[in-house]
Amino acid sequence: MSGLETIPVTELKGIGSAVAEKLAKLNIHSLQDLVFHLPMRYQDRTKVVPIGRLRLGDEVVIEGDVIGCEVAMGKRRSLLCRVKDHSGTLTLRFFHFTAGQKKQFESGKTIRAFGEIKRGSFGYEIFHPEYSLADEFTPSTEQAQLTPTYPLTEGLTQLKMRSFCEQALERVTPYNVIEWLPEAIRHKFQLPPLVDAIHYLHKPPAEADVALLASGKHPAQFRLSFEELLAHQLSLVNKKQQAKLDRAPIISEAGAVLGKLLESLPFQPTNAQQRVFQEVMQDVSSGHPMLRLVQGDVGSGKTLVAAMSAATFIQKGLQVAIMAPTEILAEQHFNNFKQWFEPLDIEVAWLVGKLKGNARISQLERIANGTALIVVGTHALFQESVQFKNLSLAIIDEQHRFGVHQRMALREKGVDGLLQPHQLIMTATPIPRTLAMSAYADLDCSVIDELPPGRTPVTTIVVSDKRRNEVIERVRAACNEGKQAYWVCTLVEESEALQCQAAEETAVMLSDSLAGIKIGLIHGRLKAPEKAAIMQEFKQGDSQLLVATTVIEVGVDVPNASLMVIENPERLGLAQLHQLRGRVGRGQAASHCVLLYKTPLSQHGKVRLGIIRETSDGFKIAEKDLEIRGPGELLGSRQTGLMEFKVADLQRDKAMLEQVQSAALLMYQSHHEHIEPLLSRWLPIQQDYLNV
Ligand code: ADP
Ligand code: MG
Repeated sequence: MSGLETIPVTELKGIGSAVAEKLAKLNIHSLQDLVFHLPMRYQDRTKVVPIGRLRLGDEVVIEGDVIGCEVAMGKRRSLLCRVKDHSGTLTLRFFHFTAGQKKQFESGKTIRAFGEIKRGSFGYEIFHPEYSLADEFTPSTEQAQLTPTYPLTEGLTQLKMRSFCEQALERVTPYNVIEWLPEAIRHKFQLPPLVDAIHYLHKPPAEADVALLASGKHPAQFRLSFEELLAHQLSLVNKKQQAKLDRAPIISEAGAVLGKLLESLPFQPTNAQQRVFQEVMQDVSSGHPMLRLVQGDVGSGKTLVAAMSAATFIQKGLQVAIMAPTEILAEQHFNNFKQWFEPLDIEVAWLVGKLKGNARISQLERIANGTALIVVGTHALFQESVQFKNLSLAIIDEQHRFGVHQRMALREKGVDGLLQPHQLIMTATPIPRTLAMSAYADLDCSVIDELPPGRTPVTTIVVSDKRRNEVIERVRAACNEGKQAYWVCTLVEESEALQCQAAEETAVMLSDSLAGIKIGLIHGRLKAPEKAAIMQEFKQGDSQLLVATTVIEVGVDVPNASLMVIENPERLGLAQLHQLRGRVGRGQAASHCVLLYKTPLSQHGKVRLGIIRETSDGFKIAEKDLEIRGPGELLGSRQTGLMEFKVADLQRDKAMLEQVQSAALLMYQSHHEHIEPLLSRWLPIQQDYLNV
């Protein structure tokens, strides 16, 4: 008997090629796919609920006698049928109805109806219920099991999907839906047998705990989520193992360029920077491509680690690319790398989207002929027209803004067909360890867990917007002392236009109150050169106050800025607030961050701002953020594909991740042959095997 994964859905009654195409949109091709297409919720049609016990929003079966029927004119003509049982009365309402229907509802007849309870003008109502009258009651309306509701796609009905799943389910046996989790793992993590879990979830018995099922934490659901997360984990581990088979340039010693670079710096690398650099050296000496993620809180000095790594490649005449998510950041890196490397006679090229014409051509030439050993830019570096002479190290800053595919594209620009470039990815969005191990299992991780010495921690205060004037005075005082400040505007609306407008209005308001203080304004709708010019002005101290939207979030480095006011901080995520705050506290002066919230602040808002006030450790904040907002938000757009699950939910199931990781290790070590079938069961189908 062959596995259900080899049997196409078209074998089932009611599925021709047209329906099969619709199912394919849900990634359902085989009977196994149908079996793993689980209900998103359940209706309890197993028992009749007394009308007196109904609650708003319940989906229930009721039964009673018809006590009246009329057509109500109102705003919309509708047919109303009043039903009474021993405990109360209820109205069935139909906006579309026939004369025949009206006749059907004779007083005294017994009716059974199913639907969602809504509030109507005379108490509870059900709109367009499914119903049957006394002589028609059949066992199918009073079912032995809960009724599943499946995810659908256009053109498929719930009834059809139920029938397909039911047919597929009838054919499930332990021989054709194979248990790929070895006994040892099932025992260790107390997982029920696969086939039992599947049957249970498609057809929970009448006595099933509906609330538990709705929470997604039923042992049968746990079992399937576990298996799915395990499959994803294994696929990432697989990717990592495969990358280890590729070849990459070998850098076996740090070399003289690094020595000269370090000599030229006014400071010593911190122990954490040294350690992470050593981890990089270990990777790049292996002959296989490095795939390393460096996590480091804002201001921890990731750029220096990048520069130190770059120096070792330059030493051997190999090219290094540094890619940033925005032009402002790219420019900042460009300036840093120029400042560090040009005195050592190493050329730095520069490539961003705005660079056009001859300037662009000349940069492209320097990149192609290898005159420039360092290339700094934005995603413009991915473009096809960009040819490197021998790109050997790709450094990607603020990784969460780039997708996996973009990373891969840069990798394709590697040295030649034989050697792959090494990759060093830097992110300032700390990710809690367990989550990192899942989301970044394809990467090795390093953490810079120490800030450079001499920093004064940022003091954060939480202030009501009723005290806005005091805050403005504080900005004035700081600017008069020669310090600089940021004023960050946020808006609840997602609209960037509104955000920019708010920033513009705030800038006008502040320049009225702060005569004599030069104010810069930066927001997302400015063109890149305008933004860069305004940043430059602020950096040079030509402007003292920078009014900004959250575009300054990432990476901007102006050590003289020691005060930040954030408006409506209650509307931002914790990680984002932490990032913003990281723009101050970069110099010697004591720094302050004022969270200027809008009153009244919700309890939830108080708790969140309290966390930011009390903690400056990005990892602790990330843990809290994970609790509050969930992993989707935290990981941002990274690998959205990776983070889409059929059954699992990272937020709900996060406690499972550590177990999944240890199970993955076990599978890898002792049950290697089970990995492939597990992956093909759970991961989106790469090729349409029905056409193979
Ligand atoms: P981030 O990790 O946020 O990217 P940066 O690399 O921009 O941090 O570094 C922040 C600031 O700290 C920069 O001004 C940088 O020159 C400085 N810095 C980096 N490493 C050290 C160090 N070891 N000692 C003193 N200052 C350092
Ligand atoms: Mg940085």
